[in-house]
Amino acid sequence: MTTWKEPSLETVDPEIARLIHEEELREARTIRLIASENYASRAVLEASGSCLTNKYSEGYPHKRYYEGQQSIDPIEELAQNRLKALFGSEHANVQPYSGSPANLAVYLAFCKPGDPIMGLGLPAGGHLTHGWGVSITGMFFKSHAYGVRKDDHMIDMDQVRALAKEHRPRVIWCGGTAYARTWDFPAFREICNEVGALMIADIAHIAGLVAGGAHPSPVGLADVVTSTTHKTLRGPRGGMIMAKKEHAAAIDKAVFPGLQGGPHNHTTAAIAVAAHEAGKPEFKQYAKAIVDNAKALAAAMTERGFKLITGGTDNHLILADLTPQNVSGKIAAKALDRAGLVLNYNSVPFDTRKPFDPSGIRLGTPSITSRGMGREEMVKIADWMARVIAKHDDPATIDAVRGEVEETCKKFPAPGIPVV
Ligand SMILES: *Cc1c(COP(=O)(O)O)cnc(C)c1O
Repeated sequence: MTTWKEPSLETVDPEIARLIHEEELREARTIRLIASENYASRAVLEASGSCLTNKYSEGYPHKRYYEGQQSIDPIEELAQNRLKALFGSEHANVQPYSGSPANLAVYLAFCKPGDPIMGLGLPAGGHLTHGWGVSITGMFFKSHAYGVRKDDHMIDMDQVRALAKEHRPRVIWCGGTAYARTWDFPAFREICNEVGALMIADIAHIAGLVAGGAHPSPVGLADVVTSTTHKTLRGPRGGMIMAKKEHAAAIDKAVFPGLQGGPHNHTTAAIAVAAHEAGKPEFKQYAKAIVDNAKALAAAMTERGFKLITGGTDNHLILADLTPQNVSGKIAAKALDRAGLVLNYNSVPFDTRKPFDPSGIRLGTPSITSRGMGREEMVKIADWMARVIAKHDDPATIDAVRGEVEETCKKFPAPGIPVV
């Protein structure tokens, strides 16, 4: 037991302490449907909020530029080894500060400025760092985005192959932020082989599903796999890169000294804890439950007149086009937030509206599954959504739903949030 001789945060900085407490209350009392968010466990938060934040350790285990690494080296090795075991990967780098820097390290390892690259376009559900124009990755490299088909909104593998043959990209990214279907990793491997491109799988959204066996793994097929650690994987806010042995040295050199300075050791420790938790049999059940819940929620939404992009989901996320409801994604998202249902407005493929006020909403089940919600709650959530969106400017409806949401939240305490 530690006995503090110093004053607490509440004493030192009541303003920040109050805001953190208010965030705890918000996270406990609302239903988190943001597909990229989750609740890290108390164990993960403890590691992340530790004195490890004080330590500099530029370099890698046993090859450091600072002394005093007696705890840091074994912590980083545990994080690497647990991730390698969890995903069956030959190499793991746990130092990227987050998902975007992990992806930048891949470019630095393999591409020269101006090289052709390919990734799923942002409007089709790709990530900024896969070469979109407003991102440094679209400015420094010649990006040729692939998209989804107009009829069924599935990734157009014929287009991927045609663009790859035409432009001979150095790397092809597979992964996205708003794609509700299974990634066909073997098909990407085949195309990469045909054109001599490196296959880079960015599993930021689906890492937990891959770890838990609820989505096929790209490990063994992709040359490099990047990810965040804080989405379905339920770790701290961080990034990681897994690679085949032959690319290990290039990746490590790109992360440090290529792109970053000292690693965030508190995050590394928390990644190790998350990988430990994800290696337990319960995590397999968790990953499966995320997908079961998403399918149940998608079915309940469809029954209530929602138009889902691709007609449903294979993973943790759902993208809905609200055009039939005659309301923009932003207006809906703001009304739902007032009712305690927190999600984000999102462009849909071939959206005719602007990205800052698009036609759709994106939602996901990782967080509500972490709270232990199931089929019954999915039906309730679909029902609440339909009610709020139909009467988005009626305070009585919003208040009524908010009350029901708070009652349900009380029955499903959120991991990592002190009971409030
Ligand atoms: C979230 C995400 C990222 C970026 O992660 P940050 O930690 O926000 O930088 C990269 N790629 C994909 C596919 C993502 O979903």
